[in-house]
Amino acid sequence: MKYITKYKSPNYNSRKNSKIRLIIIHYTALNNTEEAISYLCKKEKKVSSHYLISQDGKVYNLVDDKLRAWHAGEAFWQDFTDINSISIGIELDYNPDGRNNKFSLKMISALKKLLVKKQKKYQISKKNILAHSDVAPYRKKDPGKNFPWKALSSSKITINLNRIKKNEFKIIEAWFYKHNLNSKKKIIIFALSLIGYDTRNIYSNNKLYNQLISAYKNRYLTYEVNNKKIFIYNVLIKHLFKFLLTKN
Ligand SMILES: [Zn+2]
Repeated sequence: MKYITKYKSPNYNSRKNSKIRLIIIHYTALNNTEEAISYLCKKEKKVSSHYLISQDGKVYNLVDDKLRAWHAGEAFWQDFTDINSISIGIELDYNPDGRNNKFSLKMISALKKLLVKKQKKYQISKKNILAHSDVAPYRKKDPGKNFPWKALSSSKITINLNRIKKNEFKIIEAWFYKHNLNSKKKIIIFALSLIGYDTRNIYSNNKLYNQLISAYKNRYLTYEVNNKKIFIYNVLIKHLFKFLLTKN
């Protein structure tokens, strides 16, 4: 796969030997690729990403993988808080309120190729292909509820929440109750924190709890729904089960 390397961003620093573990997907919320390049490469903006993918599927490499690009901001995943040091950032030329408000087939096909390539190169787990809204659910919505996660899970790039058997569901539920996680809310928070989400302040704060639930729903529940009402609790139990059993 070929990158366009004509444009470079000055907004980076050293990873200081941190291993690359995560890939974070964003959208630019700008009007087009030209605007995005100029924004991500302007020193005063103090933001950047390693890659930018245009609507027609061109991949721009703005910061070398070796370097720490500035895309995640204040964020959290599985006790890591310096997400920029351990991740690759990919921006998509998409704006929910612009003319570029579709995730084009060419864009998604280029994204898939790029993800597979980086997963192989850096041994990045399926579990670690994340939305900006996964690592910053209280501040960020990108890549948003219309992003086609299903295209990634059916290509085995991300975790696929297939059905789990009824008895498996019961086993995990019984385990929760045995360990005093005796309400659905407690179980939901516990499962989200095991998966990696920042749940540090949500026990006592309902507003943050609802924000996290909506970030999770936007990623995992939109494509689960086929005519019937699906509850976050059931999806999360399946997710946790898959999560615990998935190595790579
Ligand atoms: Zn973002």
